[in-house]
Amino acid sequence: MKILVAVKRVVDHAVRVRVRPDGSGVETDNVRMSMNPFCKHAVEAAVQLAEAGQASEIVVVSIGPKQSTDVVLTALAMGAHRGLVIETNERVETLAVAKLLRAVVDAEKPDLVLLGKQAVDDDSNHVGQMLAGLLGWPQATFASAINVVGDGLDVTREVDFGRVAIALELPAIVTADLRLNTPRNAALPMVMKARQKPLAVRPIAEFGVDITPRLTVEKVAPPPERSPGKVLPSVEALAAALKADIAELEAL
Ligand code: AMP
Repeated sequence: MKILVAVKRVVDHAVRVRVRPDGSGVETDNVRMSMNPFCKHAVEAAVQLAEAGQASEIVVVSIGPKQSTDVVLTALAMGAHRGLVIETNERVETLAVAKLLRAVVDAEKPDLVLLGKQAVDDDSNHVGQMLAGLLGWPQATFASAINVVGDGLDVTREVDFGRVAIALELPAIVTADLRLNTPRNAALPMVMKARQKPLAVRPIAEFGVDITPRLTVEKVAPPPERSPGKVLPSVEALAAALKADIAELEAL
């Protein structure tokens, strides 16, 4: 089985996000960037399938500025075989990302495409579903377990009311949730080895996909500051405080 994994470079999840003073977006200059956490789970799942002898090649793709090579190198250090960066400094909306990934799928012909369930910068949760729609392939989103069974996959999905098990025929799209696995931290020799692996950087124009934005961002603003919590001395005091809060809400 050949696997394509899509990974996005985002502001590191440990960084406190700051909005640009002109409200045009989130500050990314001089901010630590890293692989979107859900994409790490997707890479780990692919590497585990390869280690189990169930995948023969893992290709990793990222769409973004040239520095996206960093997140592709991370995936190569984790065990992926080959990388591709589709380079652009423009903001690429989710439908255009899905169309670019479709072009990569057409060229690479993978049996399985693994993605994160969402990218934590915009929290869209679009691309896996859009790619499945564009390709007409079966999909399993929010995967917490992936097992190869015969010519297909059994995937456990995390949903609001618990877990759902579904069987998919290949080729298919699967998006990774947090409980799918524990992504490895690549040891130094793997990081060094990753630099020897093939990594192509290709301009976005080569893919013939229109990336003209369809959305206009009018203003980005930080959320209102939360008021500090209260420590109450007893359950009775908590009940009284809740009653007072409810009365206040009802009076609105
Ligand atoms: P989203 O729909 O934007 O929340 O992203 C869902 C998943 O799509 C991510 O976890 C990635 O696997 C993939 N994806 C989104 N944007 C990109 C990108 N620019 N480059 C590569 N993969 C991406």
